Amino acid sequence: MFLRFWGTRGSIPVPGKSTLKYGGNTPCVELRTSDNQLIILDAGSGLRELGKSLVQNGGDKSIHIFISHYHWDHIQGIPFFMPLYEKGKDITFYGEGCSNKKVKEILGYQMTANYFPINLDEAGSKTKFIEIKTDSVYQIGNVKVETRRANHSSPTISYKFTEGNKKIVYMTDNELHAHDSQDDISGVKILDKYKELVEFCSDCDYLIHDSMYDEISVLNKKGWGHTGNITLAYFSILAKVKNLVLFHYNPDYCDEKIDDLLKETLSVLNSENSTINCVASKEGMCIEL
Ligand SMILES: [Zn+2]
Ligand SMILES: [Zn+2]
Repeated sequence: MFLRFWGTRGSIPVPGKSTLKYGGNTPCVELRTSDNQLIILDAGSGLRELGKSLVQNGGDKSIHIFISHYHWDHIQGIPFFMPLYEKGKDITFYGEGCSNKKVKEILGYQMTANYFPINLDEAGSKTKFIEIKTDSVYQIGNVKVETRRANHSSPTISYKFTEGNKKIVYMTDNELHAHDSQDDISGVKILDKYKELVEFCSDCDYLIHDSMYDEISVLNKKGWGHTGNITLAYFSILAKVKNLVLFHYNPDYCDEKIDDLLKETLSVLNSENSTINCVASKEGMCIEL
């Protein structure tokens, strides 16, 4: 499998000189299978650049887009995704129905007349909408896709993609919060509260996870649906992941702040004698596995 990051920011795009290193676009990750099928994880503003590159390269008749949830930062790239307007493209959206509405209705709403000049039905490509559920298994070519419920303010799905013996978990907008102070973080408490998610991520090659805040700021954001970097380090140790990828950064964090977040996460992993490789995702970063 192959991964490329097109958007790594949470909440809202933040272009500007303070975000040049990690990027300002909201979540979008390209995943390619060994037989070159294209799977896209979330459709934030990063989807726009991905779409342009797909049109330039001319390939990929068939595109699979998995949506974690419908908060604006995860769907706002769809109206600006150029392949959507190309005849001959088959674009399949996967998501969970929400508030008694189906995926098509939810995604189509942001392209109704008050919000956008072109309706989703008029886009030109052949679109399909698959209603998925949590705790389920799907198959895209050689890749098995498994789903779990994340802890977020709106129903959110985490995905695990398995091809052969390689596993990638995409778990963003997920809150891990099992303590009341920074000194109180413990693997035992995290395991007790999040055993199911630890098992879901167990032994994965790459865990791409929400690390929106540092551990001090997250303390007064209980219930917001995001995770602090130190708790995430402990969670990753429990799950025995091989590589941890920090993702979905606070829009107020400049590049230097994300550098510090990474340094601190690495130092916690180091102090626990962990061999986990941790990186901070940035736009354009590619991973081959
Ligand atoms: Zn988000
Ligand atoms: Zn969200």
